[in-house]
This record gives sequence, C-alpha cells and structure tokens, in this order.
Amino acid sequence: MTRYHRYSAAVTRTRRWKALRLQALRRDGWRCVKCGGRRRLEVDHVQPVRTHPELSFELSNLQTLDARCHSRKTRIEIGLGTEPDPRRLEWRDFVHELSPSRKEQRCSNQ
Ligand SMILES: [Zn+2]
Repeated sequence: MTRYHRYSAAVTRTRRWKALRLQALRRDGWRCVKCGGRRRLEVDHVQPVRTHPELSFELSNLQTLDARCHSRKTRIEIGLGTEPDPRRLEWRDFVHELSPSRKEQRCSNQ
C-alpha cells in the first residue's frame, strides 16, 4: 500500500466515515459530480486527507466521483499526472528528436 493511501485509510475505515459517505452520496444525488456517471461511485476528499486532515469529516469537503474520475484525480494529486494527452506526446517526440543519441543514430544511418 502506498503512503498516500494509508492516510485516507485511517479515515475511511471508521464508522463515522461510513455514515458521512452516505450523506455525501445522497447530497450529490448518487452521481459523479464531474461526469454525472452513476457507476462505481466513490466519495472523495476535495482537499486530500494527507494535506488537510482537519477536513477529513467535513461534508463540505466531500464529493462523489465515479472510479474513473476518482483515479484521475488521485493520479494528479500524487504527481503522476493524467493520461498522456496528444500535445504532451508531441512534445516528448520533439525532445527525443533533439537528444544527442538520436542525432548520432541518424548520422550513422546515412
Ligand atoms: Zn465521473
């Protein structure tokens, strides 16, 4: 288990959390607040427990997300970023073109 997950586990295994989680789901109408999806709903801390432990049990700090939107948010929070978007891939190719090893390769091919 990652360090990130341990922080929220201290909250989410409590009985208090389970009651609060239901309140959040009801408030958000059992839909993902990002995409409106109704499948695999999870309740997320808007401000992460890791950085804002005092907001762990604040209903106003909770939002309903489906698994897809939730994992995307988590990836951003722990610094992994989102799935590579086309612009980023273009940039990566561009940087690759500039790298010396690539140039050498190209010379030897000619
Ligand atoms: Zn969603």
